[in-house]
Amino acid sequence: MRFEVSKVLDAIEVRLTTDPALARAVVDLSEVVRYADLDGGRPASLVRLGLLVDALGRLVAEENVPVYAVAPRGLISDTDLTSNERMVVRRWADDGKIEVVPQLDDRVLEVAEMLGLPVLTRDREDRFRDRRPWVSDPGRLLALVSNQGGPVLVPRVGRGEVTPPVPRSPLGERLLARIWSCPAPNCTSYSTSGTGEADSFFSDMRTFTSPVSQPPPALRAGAPTCPRHGERLKDAGARPTTEVFSVRIDGVIRQRFVVSDDQPVVVGRAPEGGGGVMLGQWLTDDARKWISRGHAQFSLRAGEVTVTDVSTNGSGIRPGGSLDDDARITLKRDESRVLAAEDVVELYAGVNIGRSKLWSTGGVVQPESVMAEAPTMAFRPVGR
Ligand SMILES: [Zn+2]
Repeated sequence: MRFEVSKVLDAIEVRLTTDPALARAVVDLSEVVRYADLDGGRPASLVRLGLLVDALGRLVAEENVPVYAVAPRGLISDTDLTSNERMVVRRWADDGKIEVVPQLDDRVLEVAEMLGLPVLTRDREDRFRDRRPWVSDPGRLLALVSNQGGPVLVPRVGRGEVTPPVPRSPLGERLLARIWSCPAPNCTSYSTSGTGEADSFFSDMRTFTSPVSQPPPALRAGAPTCPRHGERLKDAGARPTTEVFSVRIDGVIRQRFVVSDDQPVVVGRAPEGGGGVMLGQWLTDDARKWISRGHAQFSLRAGEVTVTDVSTNGSGIRPGGSLDDDARITLKRDESRVLAAEDVVELYAGVNIGRSKLWSTGGVVQPESVMAEAPTMAFRPVGR
């Protein structure tokens, strides 16, 4: 039983991010762990976060959809969680997988507003309505409720009509255009010197957030502030620009990834080294034979995305996403091409990569569950 729980928590961990480019919803972790009605179990359970993550995946019908979880510091010592769960929360916090704050206040709403994301909550957030009037807009707050076939997210306001994506707030755009540096010596979220510099034994073991993926600062008394340490952040220069891409295989969006000015990304069957996007697990046998371990490299410079083929068999570019085979441009090994806004890269028939904004979400009927390793845990609809 414990073994399975730790596997579930590992599966959940992969879906946690504070990266503004990848997060798809914001959640108060200390709220979700107390949804005891979902399983009729203990007062608090970290595994319930998995039900939420699964529900979000089903809502947007996409694989590998990450959430931005914020937790008040008290959760790390909350004895309603098991000691193992408390240890996991602490590790997630130390590794920057989740954001820990001294007091929650309206940090969840602040992040959601800056990033233009929905909030997953059962709360109506009435006490913050004056400050954040958008909480009354349809689709901005989604509540996890029991349902046949697993819990689902339903809008607190509105009738579930599809709401258009919300842009980042102007303040969010401004703050996310800069790199920030926290004066606290142990700050892993807003550090500009953390990567690769081993000035002490312990700094080796700490996971630092790359400047490109720094979470949005908190705004306190009009100044950008570290949400964890409460220290005023220093502006450490312009943040590298990013573009978010999606891998779409046979019409199903499998994975998003970020390409930034200082970090090219290789996509392929099983790229070597860290940071690549691995497609192997989603490919048919024929596609696996055709697609190289590392197949195409995406790089971003001066606002332009360049694709370079690094494969054995070559890649294709479909200009403007055209399905016309005569329009398809072949890229042989080491050939490059600047990718226009709506161009789609084709590694193999039906294996496509394009900017995420090109494709609406969807396509997955039953996204892979993070709860798959919990066969003995009976999560079932609770009678009302
Ligand atoms: Zn800090």
